[in-house]
Amino acid sequence: MTDSSAGKTALDPFGMTVVEDYERLYEEFGIQPFKSLLPQISKPYLSMRRGVIFGHRDFDRVLNAMKKREKFAVMSGIKPTGEFHLGTLMTAREVIYFQQQGAAAFYCIADVEAYEDNNISFERSEKYAVGNVADLLALGFDPKRGYIYRQSKDQRVKDLAIIFGRKVTLATMKAIYGERNMGLYISALIQAGDILMPQLEDFNGPKPTVVPVGVDQDPHLRLTRDLAAKFHRKYSFVLPSSTYHKLMKGLDGSPKMSKRNPMSYFTFQETPKNIAKKISNAFTGGRPTAQEQRKLGGTPEICPIYEMCMFHFFEEDKDVVQLYHDCKSGKILCGEDKQRLIKIVLNFVKEHRRKRQQNVDKARKILQVA
Ligand code: SF4
Repeated sequence: MTDSSAGKTALDPFGMTVVEDYERLYEEFGIQPFKSLLPQISKPYLSMRRGVIFGHRDFDRVLNAMKKREKFAVMSGIKPTGEFHLGTLMTAREVIYFQQQGAAAFYCIADVEAYEDNNISFERSEKYAVGNVADLLALGFDPKRGYIYRQSKDQRVKDLAIIFGRKVTLATMKAIYGERNMGLYISALIQAGDILMPQLEDFNGPKPTVVPVGVDQDPHLRLTRDLAAKFHRKYSFVLPSSTYHKLMKGLDGSPKMSKRNPMSYFTFQETPKNIAKKISNAFTGGRPTAQEQRKLGGTPEICPIYEMCMFHFFEEDKDVVQLYHDCKSGKILCGEDKQRLIKIVLNFVKEHRRKRQQNVDKARKILQVA
């Protein structure tokens, strides 16, 4: 979303954020560019190498802990409003990456936010949560070295929200989130609790913590960093760090995948036929005719098919580079490119669903669902 009156980008975790120019966020919000840190990361994750993670706040602090093998944490989560899709996959894989690099990992099921923002009852979100956690486990999250919880069931995050509330005025909440109902402000305070809970004594005290999220979540980080400073004397919080990934374009050509628009995305629980159909019908950066495309080439920069390959489905960087050049030079046409991607996606979904099924009971146990 762009605030056209001010010509500024609006990052809104509760609404529709569309970023036209990521570079501008460095200046507008003080987000720091990620690229310069890349040479210092011994095993950078795929989305770091490809510029999908483009920005951060104080990630240096986490990087130092990683280098010195000191304790650090990773914290992120999911709003249980439906099944896993490409957006939730991205965050889950980033959390798992940091866990594999030695972080104590925290994964929150944001059911309070699902209620306040999407009117999803706790009974309904519980069903989604079991599936979401099974997805997370299927992707490789190790529950023995991590903590998965629901906001509504963890007293610590709710206590922190109450404690934090004392030092936040309505004017501050309005300045960060705009005019919203009280429920959303409360859920934002609970999210601050989520982000800082890894630093409580119950979890071995203060430590650098990275929060990998889509850039639309930055307002939560700004609020939480402010609270961490205000409550430093009481808790000795280290200011939380963050990494920001770009937001995926919708398959239908809309600027962002959104649950409000079912043709813009697919979930891993949809039928293979449906998924294939959505990819087949997707918008591309191709030309109106094959002849023109062969002659002039396509525009991968605006193409959601190219994005899916780069963000998720091409393991090797060289294959992403190859696709870029093949598209630009007109060597590959959109039809064949889509068919190739459909095959890769359906294979992934089939294998993922098999593993997910094996983890449903474990997910129920973790969430204490009968
Ligand atoms: S060839 Fe592939 S990457 Fe290029 S515009 Fe067509 S679908 Fe997109």
